[in-house]
Amino acid sequence: MKIDILSLFPEMFDGAFSHSIIKRAKEKGLAEIRLFNIRDWSAGKHKTVDDYAFGGGAGMVMMIEPISRCIEELREKTVYDEVIYMSPDGELLEQNMANRLSLSQNLLILCGHYKGIDERIREHFITREISIGDYVLSGGELAAAVLTDTIVRLLPGVLNDETSALSDSFQNNLLSPPVYTRPSDFRGWKVPDILLSGNDREIVKWKHEQSILRTKLRRPGLLPSDILISDI
Ligand code: SAH
Repeated sequence: MKIDILSLFPEMFDGAFSHSIIKRAKEKGLAEIRLFNIRDWSAGKHKTVDDYAFGGGAGMVMMIEPISRCIEELREKTVYDEVIYMSPDGELLEQNMANRLSLSQNLLILCGHYKGIDERIREHFITREISIGDYVLSGGELAAAVLTDTIVRLLPGVLNDETSALSDSFQNNLLSPPVYTRPSDFRGWKVPDILLSGNDREIVKWKHEQSILRTKLRRPGLLPSDILISDI
């Protein structure tokens, strides 16, 4: 999969994309992430990329010319499944959306900054608008890093244990059960006996029950209708 990210501050991605799972996905050639600085597509001598908002009001607006030039140039070489704009008023990012997006070949992600981008970019170039939550960030970079991470970890071959992503929270609309590792007794705080029992069938059952219990307590709205919560 190829993910092209357009930003005014591409350095912001350095840390997020050069460690751990994303780093491995890039090294294995499973994900190619390219960063583009929108400023490079500004024609003016001063490389201006933002201007005052028509009609007044506080905050600068990212201009249409550099962004449209950049997107059009990239589109000459790559056909994108989606041209995404990170935006607080977009669709809320959730696991199913990430699952579906992970099936894409090529994605373009545009990060806004300041007061946002000229609305005409959204009307004419953007195919999808995604928010990572009901709060406002200073820029789309952190949001794009979140979106990229949640997609890339789902690509086949990225996680060592292929089943690992499937047992995470939100897959099956259930939260993950609690997890433990050694030591089995720390200051008298013990790991549940069942996990040390070696009885695989009972362990699977316990984990499923814990998932349902946890979901019921913390996120009851997620519970699938076919689960009889009164049974637990
Ligand atoms: N004036 C805008 C906010 C601009 S914040 C408004 O009130 O809706 C600057 C940029 O940060 C946006 O262009 C967007 O790309 C990004 N951003 C801010 N909050 C975000 C969120 N919750 N999800 C995704 N992107 C966000």
